[in-house]
Amino acid sequence: MRRKLAAGNWKMNGLRADLEQLRSLCAAKGGEDTDILICPPALLIAEAAALCRGHSIHIGGQDCHMARSGAHTGDVSAAMLKDAGATAVILGHSERRADRGETNDIVQDKARAAQNAGLMAIICVGESLEERENQATLDVIRQQIAASVPEGVTGDNTVIAYEPCWAIGTGLTASPEQIGEVHDFIRALLEDRFGSDKGQSVRLLYGGSVKPDNASQIFAVPNVDGALVGGASLKASDFLPIIKALDDAAKPS
Ligand code: PEP
Repeated sequence: MRRKLAAGNWKMNGLRADLEQLRSLCAAKGGEDTDILICPPALLIAEAAALCRGHSIHIGGQDCHMARSGAHTGDVSAAMLKDAGATAVILGHSERRADRGETNDIVQDKARAAQNAGLMAIICVGESLEERENQATLDVIRQQIAASVPEGVTGDNTVIAYEPCWAIGTGLTASPEQIGEVHDFIRALLEDRFGSDKGQSVRLLYGGSVKPDNASQIFAVPNVDGALVGGASLKASDFLPIIKALDDAAKPS
């Protein structure tokens, strides 16, 4: 049984005062069956991790460098995230692929660095609108999984997030059929490469305008083990109903 995971990506949003939202999450959080992860900006990680200590809410980074340390001005290593209290890191988000030219190879090196530091890597993949319109979605996903995901994958050290670029921050969501097709495809790729047990153990998240009002429909899709949520993770009042929808989906019907 894969545990459900609700992961929030705050992106470049949030000042120290916004940690109030985390306090509200800690106070309200109910779900036994759902893991909760918030990835705030790097500067807030240590304070967020301290605040969540003793509560079952984990804190993660939004990126890391592939090197353990060295002359890389402005960068943060996986070991530094871990040292600050993070347990996970988002890698290869489409905004970093687009804004920073991150290639699949770079993402794979970063995922290896995360593994070595003992962080769970959330590796993001997803097609552009043009690729979907050209019926290239599955080819793109195949390439991204093959080249971004390192060897040594387990259900503990790796999560894959399927995030169609055209659905991120746009209010557009992929349909349950579109999500199901890609998640089943990713599951098959992982089983093929890492064997059935490991391939089955890796959690697959959907990301792209997940909101309280569409979460249940998305979580009903087979092979959807949770969500990577941007905008709706910034306020506890939006994120809590999404966690609740995931808790409900985890209950035996
Ligand atoms: C994301 O940042 O990964 C994301 C899916 O954003 P949003 O939920 O705002 O579309």
